[in-house]
Amino acid sequence: MFTSSQSRSGSLMSSLQVVKHGTGILITYKGVKLALDTGISRITTLLSHAHADHIGNLQQAKQVIATLGTIDALVARGGKPPRNPMIIQLGETFGHVGVYVTALNAGHVIGSSMFKIEFDDGMTVLYTGDFNSVNSIVHEAAEPIETSALIMEATYGTPQWVFPERKKIHEEITKVAQMHIENGNIPIFRAYSLGKAQETIALLSQKGIEVVSGNQAVDAVTEVYCRHGVPISYTSLKSNDARRALREGCAIVSSAPRFIPSNVRKLVGSSYVRDLDRRKRNYNLSGWTLGEFKNGGFPLSAHTDFPHLIKFAKSVNPKIVYCFTGNAGVLSEYLNQQGINAIPLE
Ligand SMILES: [Zn+2]
Repeated sequence: MFTSSQSRSGSLMSSLQVVKHGTGILITYKGVKLALDTGISRITTLLSHAHADHIGNLQQAKQVIATLGTIDALVARGGKPPRNPMIIQLGETFGHVGVYVTALNAGHVIGSSMFKIEFDDGMTVLYTGDFNSVNSIVHEAAEPIETSALIMEATYGTPQWVFPERKKIHEEITKVAQMHIENGNIPIFRAYSLGKAQETIALLSQKGIEVVSGNQAVDAVTEVYCRHGVPISYTSLKSNDARRALREGCAIVSSAPRFIPSNVRKLVGSSYVRDLDRRKRNYNLSGWTLGEFKNGGFPLSAHTDFPHLIKFAKSVNPKIVYCFTGNAGVLSEYLNQQGINAIPLE
């Protein structure tokens, strides 16, 4: 037998529709439609961050609600700014025809936000976008809040994805960089241009290692971090200091290491390409390298690992969880086993 509050929440839930659409999700609740991380004509989009797999068809959106950090990162990576952006700050709430939207820190990349969506009748939804629930050097951890429904990413949503303590990963990266530089070699770290490149540059430069950015995308996004109050010290390949840094010893951070030789040839000089080819030591920074330390990878991730996904969902204490991305099916099964009603969006 349902109590009155249970039956009320049950009927609220049955009115909520959550479906995949384009690069994101469409939610419909009692006549209100919102697009999450995808553009749909005549519908407002909540844009969580500027990674390429979250920004499809933005030009079609009626309006795009996002932080200034997200819009600046989008433009820095060569994207077109939305036609009708509405800038929201983290912690700020907008009222929007029958619905209130609050942006909350997602801890993933510069400007990244989760969205709390509150409807007139008390129904609340938390959309995480991509999120990280542990502190990094350049981002603060995402904090859960209680809502009726949770729409959560499941990128690392299977049990083998348990990341080591971040401090340990930082120590390993620093150690390997110092070792190669002391031996006269140049460690090259491959990292996404938005997020992990900046964390890596900040990490190494704080340890006194000079970091040269290996490509324009890393330069442009790092400038966005600096403009948004996250000062990161680095040497651009375009600067006069690049020759000295490459001669005297440095690390390189790049999102596209295969273009480093042509960038160095163009901006620094051909003789440096031959030298770099001899001295370079390549590493990949990605959660997917977990367990492959010896194969040149460090599991530095901007996402939440499996145990933290489960913990986060429990803290939100929702009536229902919708999981999206790769491992949505497996994560939903595990959440159901934990007594949390979960459905994969596939
Ligand atoms: Zn992302």
